[in-house]
Amino acid sequence: MAPMPTLHAASLAKTYPVAEGELTILRDASLSLERGESAAIVGPSGSGKSTLLSILGTLEFPSAGDFQLSGRSPFQLSEPELAAFRSRHIGFIFQDHHLLPQCSVLENVLAPMLADGAAGPADVTRAEQLLQRVGLAQRLHHRPAQLSGGERQRAAIARALLRQPTLLLADEPTGNLDRTTAEAIINLLLELQQEQNAILIAVTHSETLAARMGRRFILDDGCLVAG
Ligand code: ADP
Ligand code: MG
Repeated sequence: MAPMPTLHAASLAKTYPVAEGELTILRDASLSLERGESAAIVGPSGSGKSTLLSILGTLEFPSAGDFQLSGRSPFQLSEPELAAFRSRHIGFIFQDHHLLPQCSVLENVLAPMLADGAAGPADVTRAEQLLQRVGLAQRLHHRPAQLSGGERQRAAIARALLRQPTLLLADEPTGNLDRTTAEAIINLLLELQQEQNAILIAVTHSETLAARMGRRFILDDGCLVAG
């Protein structure tokens, strides 16, 4: 029997109850990826891209289907186990950076450690190294409001990578950036994903970003198709 790929999603479906009955967002989303692979998910607004990413990120439960990551079935875990699994294995980058405005850049990057208690000296060193790697060595004690849009996204990337996640999920990561800044962010994201041998899945409207990913999927009427 072939070994299970690192990320294995089979026939994921998502429906929401509405007054009229059921609203189907995802019908059949299947996808398998190995470490080091990258994939773009494209599709029109409202096609369910963010919903799919939330399920792959274990933030939302699917209505049906199977999902495995790193040999585990996260949706079968208890709530605290799932939170720990997510924090350990999955890094998120959103269109809006989602940095905490009252915290410094360094504190923001360390925030994922707080899910498991406190950040230790080794975590601080790693956060500083990552911030240097993303070009923010001179911005450790800035607040998010004191950064440019591109710098905020760099900080968000460092935060997503702090725990060396298996899976990096990015939802329109360059959606709020000008073209030059967007290109720099795409390059950085792909470089770090390769360095860390992570899986990267990016939802995007940008064909430039989609073209840089190893694989491309279209979400069409609730089904994920290669293309
Ligand atoms: P995309 O990211 O492709 O623009 P989304 O995944 O955000 O699409 O949303 C897909 C559809 O799911 C939208 O039509 C939206 O209205 C619907 N939707 C999202 N979340 C919920 C929810 N909690 N309850 C009901 N419908 C929802
Ligand atoms: Mg969306």
